[in-house]
Amino acid sequence: MALHQGTLQIFENNVGVSDAVLLDPLTEDKFLENLQQRFLHQQIYTYIGNVVVSVNPYEKLPLYTHGVIEEYRSRNIYELPPHIYAITDDAYRSMRDKNMDQCIIISGESGAGKTEASKVIMQYVAEVSGKGKDIDKVKEQLLQSNPVLEAFGNAKTTRNDNSSRFGKYMDIEFDFKGDPVGGVISNYLLEKSRVASQSQGERSFHIFYQLLSGMDEESLKELKLVPGAENYALLNKSGCVEVETRNDVEDFNAVKTGMEIIGFQKEEVHMLFQLLATILKLGNVQFSERTNADGTDGCDVVNIAEVQDVCTLLGCSLETLAGALMQRTVAVRGDVVRTDLSVGDAMYARDALCKAIYSRMFTWLIQKINNSIKVQEETRTKVMGVLDIYGFEVFETNSFEQFIINYCNEKLQQIFIELTLKEEQDEYVKEGIEWIHVDYFNNSVICDLIEKNNLGILALLDEECLRPGNTSDQTFLEKLDERCAKHPHYESRKCKKNQSDKSLPHDAFRLRHYAGNVLYKVSGFLDKNNDLLFRDLSQAMHQCSHPMLMELFPEGRPTEKSLKRPATAGSQFKISVTELMKNLSSKNPNYIRCIKPNDFKKARDIDMEIVRHQVRYLGLMENIRVRRAGYAFRQVYPQFLFRYKMLAPETWPRWAGEAKEGVQKILEEQNISKEEYAFGKTKIFIRNPRLLFDMEERRRE
Ligand code: ATP
Ligand code: MG
Repeated sequence: MALHQGTLQIFENNVGVSDAVLLDPLTEDKFLENLQQRFLHQQIYTYIGNVVVSVNPYEKLPLYTHGVIEEYRSRNIYELPPHIYAITDDAYRSMRDKNMDQCIIISGESGAGKTEASKVIMQYVAEVSGKGKDIDKVKEQLLQSNPVLEAFGNAKTTRNDNSSRFGKYMDIEFDFKGDPVGGVISNYLLEKSRVASQSQGERSFHIFYQLLSGMDEESLKELKLVPGAENYALLNKSGCVEVETRNDVEDFNAVKTGMEIIGFQKEEVHMLFQLLATILKLGNVQFSERTNADGTDGCDVVNIAEVQDVCTLLGCSLETLAGALMQRTVAVRGDVVRTDLSVGDAMYARDALCKAIYSRMFTWLIQKINNSIKVQEETRTKVMGVLDIYGFEVFETNSFEQFIINYCNEKLQQIFIELTLKEEQDEYVKEGIEWIHVDYFNNSVICDLIEKNNLGILALLDEECLRPGNTSDQTFLEKLDERCAKHPHYESRKCKKNQSDKSLPHDAFRLRHYAGNVLYKVSGFLDKNNDLLFRDLSQAMHQCSHPMLMELFPEGRPTEKSLKRPATAGSQFKISVTELMKNLSSKNPNYIRCIKPNDFKKARDIDMEIVRHQVRYLGLMENIRVRRAGYAFRQVYPQFLFRYKMLAPETWPRWAGEAKEGVQKILEEQNISKEEYAFGKTKIFIRNPRLLFDMEERRRE
């Protein structure tokens, strides 16, 4: 076998056990030890059956060269050391040759390497699929969507210098030959609160810093901006402007090139930049207190020049915008009156506007990319989906965002259980195969607690948001305490069962997630779920002559009489998660489970306790146990007989009896232990895929 240099190294370093299913004895310690040993030899990938476990190396390893791709191309998954290329190749070929839509679900905590893994998949698919002018253009557009989306959707956090602050699912669509013809991207829950403020040591979205350091002064001036992130209130409060591992100037150029390749018009790019400038300028607007003649509180804009700049950028009258920033229109017994905002309310409204502009602009950006990479219905035949979504989160204080993210992870775990564990066991039962039942925790009870119609936490939250009268985060908690007290996965200080639990504060509830317990502080739940923008502001935005902005605020249309409340953040998320799960369940799933080796972004350093924690909540041991008790391969008898009939004298060239008996003859001829396979009602089940490789080999002879 001609081996390329990179591959050679992979082979030499393939220490330990490459498929954890083969570990003996199977214990958590043994599993961890194996991961550690492999990691220290730069073997960052390990299988559990066809699941890839990936440990972030935090250094460039020679694993992704053209030569390595060539080695993995069209090889059977167990022939070479574990690699993302191997399962991607397997998924790609199943899709192309067996017409099965695929999805690759990448999970793991922040910094574990999910986004990098998704790029490795895309790189592989781009290299192994066909070539040609049109195909290459599609590939280029798909690949270029990465730097653009990362600029607008990623940020430096304390855990990851390039942390994705949105969930991403991308369907890559192929024609019947297996060549990419387009794609569709869906995004989930952009963390828009980051626009208004960031924790110490973190940054806002990359694009702001890229714009301020990458754009020439003349163009910045046109946008009413000056260079330097320090000059902007939305960027200068977290003590972090520059990041060692990032080059904002270079990245800015890459974003511009990316947008051009994807097919953004010059004018569209300009409008995007104008909106970014608008957000930065709005962030600088300050208010001072004013007491009105009637004793009520009001406010004035201190630096009206900033508002004037925004008006120039957006084509809006100063009166309208300044008015909407300082006052709001309310209906009082049928009359429409304008009331002054307090300084606090005005600041809140200003921030809400910045967040709304940014998040809607992000959605616009994704739609724009989708329009460019869209395929005609007739040419698309097969799909490979890639899901890169935030893993389970537990911080010291957890809020609405963590609640939503963890809900999504419960759902992902649920389909993992359904698709892998349950389906597997059910099939054995159906086929009448003897099988030791593997106990697994079915988390649908927690999913129900969160999402059940009318009864789940999300529904109760909506109820509290929509109920007239004095509602607050605290009344929401009281409602939860009343309705969920008996639920085995809900805990709160008010519940009888938890009254003596001093670790439960009075302003929080705790959920017992499949991955562990998380305490959620209720403060901010109502506000974040409501996600309201004062109507005056959306109307002001719609009145601007800026075409993009008008499109982004359709509810500001003066003729828009409907005062129907927009869907809450929670219910919108529930809808998109349900859709995502439906989409994933319709495809053949492949998994990459990413693990972060240490908290310091350091190469060659693996902290076993940190890894153990992740192994637990990714449910990896359970995964191995099921795989091990099971059979890696199965096929209906006639198909199996047809493929291998030349391997036994009785079945060649024709077998006249029952297919099942024919298969029996073939397997007897192979001289293998009877424990290696089992006969189901309609299918043959084989434990170790190696047996099949041998048979394939003999077949070719
Ligand atoms: P988040 O949830 O915050 O978005 P993530 O799981 O997507 O996190 P990545 O951004 O993919 O994490 O990885 C974090 C960093 O780790 C990368 O910027 C890169 O420096 C390093 N890294 C990840 N995977 C690899 C790899 N295979 N080889 C080398 N470095 C890697
Ligand atoms: Mg990421």
